[in-house]
Amino acid sequence: MHSWPLILRDDPSVLFTSAGMQPLVPYFLGRKQPPAKRIVAVQKVFRATDIDEVGRDGYHQTFFEMLGNFGIGDYWKKEAIEWGWELLTKVFGFDGSKLVATVHHTDEEAFEIWTKTLALLPPEKVFRLGDEQNTWALGPTGLYGTDSEVFIDNGPQPGVADHDCNPGENCGRYLEIWNYVFQEFDRKADGTLTPLAKKNIDTGAGLERITQVLQGVPGDVYRTDLFQPLVKKIESLSGKKYGDAQASDTSIRIVAEHSRAAAFIIADGIVPSNEFRGYVLRRLIRRAAMHGRRLGLKTGALSQLGGEVTKIMQRHYHELTSARDRITHVMAEEEEKFERTLANGLAMLNEAMGRASAAGERTIDADTAFRLHDTYGFPLEMTKEIATAGGLTVDERGFRRLLETQRSRSRATAKFTQDAMRFGQFYSGLRESEGLHSDFVGYTELQTDATIRSLVVGGARVEAAHEGADVEIVLDRTPFYPEGGGQVGDRGTLTTDEGRALVADTQTAAPGIIVMSAKVVDGVLRLSAKARVVVDEVLRRDTMRNHTATHLLHATLRNLLGDDVHQAGSLVHAPNLRFDFTFGRALTPEEIQRVEDDVNDAILDNANVHARVMPLDEALASGAMALFGEKYDNEVRVVEAGPSRELCGGTHCHCTGDIGLFQITKEESIGAGVRRIEAVTGVGAIREVRDTRERLGRAAAALRVPPARVPEAVAQLIESRERVEKEVAKLQRSGVDSVATSLLEQAEVVGPAKLVAANVGDGDVAQLRALSDRIREVIGSGVIVLGGTRDGKPSVVVNVTKDLTSSVDADRLVKQVLAPIIDGRGGGRPESASAGGRDATRLAEAIETARTTVRERLNGGSDRS
Ligand code: ATP
Ligand code: MG
Repeated sequence: MHSWPLILRDDPSVLFTSAGMQPLVPYFLGRKQPPAKRIVAVQKVFRATDIDEVGRDGYHQTFFEMLGNFGIGDYWKKEAIEWGWELLTKVFGFDGSKLVATVHHTDEEAFEIWTKTLALLPPEKVFRLGDEQNTWALGPTGLYGTDSEVFIDNGPQPGVADHDCNPGENCGRYLEIWNYVFQEFDRKADGTLTPLAKKNIDTGAGLERITQVLQGVPGDVYRTDLFQPLVKKIESLSGKKYGDAQASDTSIRIVAEHSRAAAFIIADGIVPSNEFRGYVLRRLIRRAAMHGRRLGLKTGALSQLGGEVTKIMQRHYHELTSARDRITHVMAEEEEKFERTLANGLAMLNEAMGRASAAGERTIDADTAFRLHDTYGFPLEMTKEIATAGGLTVDERGFRRLLETQRSRSRATAKFTQDAMRFGQFYSGLRESEGLHSDFVGYTELQTDATIRSLVVGGARVEAAHEGADVEIVLDRTPFYPEGGGQVGDRGTLTTDEGRALVADTQTAAPGIIVMSAKVVDGVLRLSAKARVVVDEVLRRDTMRNHTATHLLHATLRNLLGDDVHQAGSLVHAPNLRFDFTFGRALTPEEIQRVEDDVNDAILDNANVHARVMPLDEALASGAMALFGEKYDNEVRVVEAGPSRELCGGTHCHCTGDIGLFQITKEESIGAGVRRIEAVTGVGAIREVRDTRERLGRAAAALRVPPARVPEAVAQLIESRERVEKEVAKLQRSGVDSVATSLLEQAEVVGPAKLVAANVGDGDVAQLRALSDRIREVIGSGVIVLGGTRDGKPSVVVNVTKDLTSSVDADRLVKQVLAPIIDGRGGGRPESASAGGRDATRLAEAIETARTTVRERLNGGSDRS
């Protein structure tokens, strides 16, 4: 079987696929017919729980490839062990004398098989350990079995006594490479073990671990050819050599491993965020960024490594090829975002650590940790990691309290995402223990009668929910659409004989379980009561229009812009639709127009919308668009609407014509290589048209023209305004000209030069200067002294033509003669100077004094007063 995606969608009880058998659970439990009794797979897995081990040792990754052999009601312990041993020792050529095994202390059968039946190992090499080591379960309920593990024995470790070291302890001597799980029970919530109808073998062997042994570097995956290209790249980017120093080795491992893991998670459709899976991705990239910085890597290095991962791994993982641009963009963007705050955050953290140490405290306070998280984007775990290195801890409980307060403040309706994992596990537990499940009937019905099957208030099951309570309701059947595929959860009402509740949101808690989040507004709701549930029809119909329109938009974009367009996210709710897609540039206005036209054409065709359930292969063969990272069952629902054919579980219109009208309201970039289109349909589009018309009407009224003539009227308005502006400038200029001319006419002739000295009355420095400059242009050789008063403040400006500056220095004239008289300050250059003063009453006197001075100078005196 192929590897399944890392993300099993619509199953919030599982954060990431973390074991090879996860996709096979329904076969093991006997709920589904397996395609064969024996299955082999290489499954990509991600274990968020191992993140702290990465770097600390060389053999735990968060992302790795799990080799699996699975027997479903077929072979059992003896065959499994025999064949596994054969593969390891004969095919792979492992030295059997270096292998040891463990079994559960109660599992006589396995012990016998190892030591007697097959006699592969002597009894002293088969360790009998407890539950912690040798049982295996995916979660608190569900599949459960004892296991037997195979380790490579690296020999006694320096400083560790033999009796202190068995494969169950982390003493560095043993490296686990292989795990046989004997899946034979279904564990219930109360702990009882129900034997399964068939016994199953579930083998997990990490490809990376096997490779370490085969390539002679057990314990260090970074020296295998799986990681060497990445390590080499990091060495060349950083100038640090792997193996040179412990600190840089740790950082190199973290950077290499986390870039690889991040690339795969992004390829499966996750983007960094502050919640849930997006948060895990954010943590990976930021932890790598921090260690990259320690190595001296520049911003952008991670994105380069992401590209490298694609290059190395894409032959087997084609999803990397199509996601290559997204991987590098997302990594670059997240790293940049973090780099912007990293230095300040580190400074703040160092200061807090210094403060704590000085005060003799061992804890970083919650406020600091929260500020680091909230303002500087430091994941709590990163703060902890740095604090731990400095011998301090973090007030985690306080941190979570602050986080919760912030979240409940920012959330109006009850949303469960932050606790999606706990939420999911809680409800899968109920499904396992009491068969809780709900049928979705909302494709055809918007209201129905149902029975209340579960009520949860404050995280606990209750018999009754009273007025005022926030309650999670599970019905046996519900028309309420649970959020999924971009479409938001339905809202509406639920009424029983005794009470009424308003449903604010609907979510899938676990496969087959639809949870309605509601507030009891009247009376009481009781378990097992009959209820009438009604979806808010107006919201739902608007939402359906937007959903079908989203499909038409998607198909149109691909048709017009090519197959490089990939959906990168969407939001479908009542007010509008939002569609994010990969594309390298902005759309031109013509393209936007064309997209809108094509979608509207498809609407006017009024084609029937069909939803059909068919086998996945058939759907894909028919060209239906599937989304990256989406996990599909063998049976999928295909929605056909006009030119579009898409795998989708959402609710849709009956005909494309139901959409009414489609209008794009926005096209923008939301990050490198990703565009966002927002659009409205139906009532929303009509409202949009009406608003536009209304705005146009207001403009027309103001312009006093009919609406159709607004564009010409505006053009005319702009044109006449430009004309008026030109006119004004001309008038101003000619005003200056005429004053300048009359002043020149009155100029005093002193030898070859002319002297203009005048108080022009009203005027500030700027106006005096404009006038003075104009006179200088035509005066030939001369001195111009102008004064004016504006708002009771006198100003003076002096211009001297270049040929006269040896006799008259404008700067000195202003500073020594004019300014002192008008009680002012100023100056400038020999050719030009000005001053502003306080005593306007003496302006005339100042100008006359200046006139006398200049006359004397021009007549032969030197400028040396
Ligand atoms: P360990 O004790 O080494 O953490 P585990 O008990 O968690 O291993 P299993 O859950 O039994 O491992 O997984 C099966 C196999 O997957 C292991 O035998 C090992 O080969 C491999 N494996 C487990 N965890 C990792 C990891 N973090 N990185 C790489 N390979 C791993
Ligand atoms: Mg482990």
